[in-house]
Amino acid sequence: MFEIGSVAGGGSGVLDGLTAAVDELQKVDPRDAALVDTVADIAVLHAQIQRLQSVMLGMVRTCDADGGHHLAGYATTGTMLTDGLRLSPGQGQAMVHTARALHSTFEQTQQALADGQISTAHATAITRAARKLPSDVLEEAEPVLLEVAEVGSPTMVRAAVDRMAELLEPEHFDHDIEKERERRYLDVSQTKDGWWAIDGHVPHEIGARLAAALEQFAGCTDPTDLRTAKQRRADAIAEIADAATDGQTSGISTLSIVADAEHLDGTGAQWDDTGMPVGLTNFAMAVCQSRIQLVVADRSGIGWKPLAVGMLTRFATPAQRAALRIRDGRCVCRGCTRKPSRCHAHHVIDWRDGGSTDVSNLVLLCPYHHRMVHLGRAEFADDPRIPGRRIAIPSRRHRTTAA
Ligand SMILES: [Zn+2]
Ligand SMILES: [Zn+2]
Repeated sequence: MFEIGSVAGGGSGVLDGLTAAVDELQKVDPRDAALVDTVADIAVLHAQIQRLQSVMLGMVRTCDADGGHHLAGYATTGTMLTDGLRLSPGQGQAMVHTARALHSTFEQTQQALADGQISTAHATAITRAARKLPSDVLEEAEPVLLEVAEVGSPTMVRAAVDRMAELLEPEHFDHDIEKERERRYLDVSQTKDGWWAIDGHVPHEIGARLAAALEQFAGCTDPTDLRTAKQRRADAIAEIADAATDGQTSGISTLSIVADAEHLDGTGAQWDDTGMPVGLTNFAMAVCQSRIQLVVADRSGIGWKPLAVGMLTRFATPAQRAALRIRDGRCVCRGCTRKPSRCHAHHVIDWRDGGSTDVSNLVLLCPYHHRMVHLGRAEFADDPRIPGRRIAIPSRRHRTTAA
């Protein structure tokens, strides 16, 4: 029994023989055959899978032409396939495009797929010619593209289509690239809970640069780094943003925290723009060393009365940072390799407990380990090798969970 939208059932029965054949295949142990035969079997099976794909595309086309998606409760065949078969966004629509183009224009390609000579990915790459090339050359182009498909990868077929388009209509091809670029977008918006949602779709030259920047900033700090790859990428965005705005913000931050002068431990502190609670660790980090502006205020009557803004003197000066760079060399957490330019200057003794902004009371910590220290998950010890340097050691409980 299968379901797709509001349609449920076992199908017409034409696939029963196939299901039985696959059941049998699954009982076969490949280790019983000679290895050379197994290699050949992989190629045969791949060709049969492509032939099945061609059968499915034929069904997709019929379903599309006769409105089967309405029966299942969908507006288009593409959304029915994407949703019903749990495909990636756009994949269902791409299947429909391929099915339509094979039927209407690319008869030889359809036959090659039905014969198992090319894959669906090849066929999709060939049908792309319908959008990229003038319609009067398609008949001539198809056999050439098929030849490429029979010896090369789908990527090579795509490149061949692009090359033809470029040769036939260079201006049109360039126009196409520009037209495609119009689809690029990036949405960055604050959600109701005060977090930010990021969503986008960018062309290769932007995406590749972003990926390179993320790769540079989102690596593991050391073996005790417990963050997932997704979490590290999210944290990397803050570092990339800081690096991009360095030297341009002249100490004026776009983010402010308003804190009650009577509660400098951070209880009741709020983000100025949303009024959301800051949390004790975020507050401690902002107070310690931060690009986040702190407004200490007296909560009197209905609002806040600012008493002091910034407390910039607590932040390490360029001369102090240079001294830290020479003494600490990198994030002082054991095993971490983050460079000084990517570190915060952390106050070992909190300024609220009388700690000074003095090189002897400061250490370099990368943002990740800075947070660990403020969460009490790492402790300081003297570096046995370098006098005057401290090292931070992740506490045992958090080291063992890293394995
Ligand atoms: Zn700190
Ligand atoms: Zn670190």
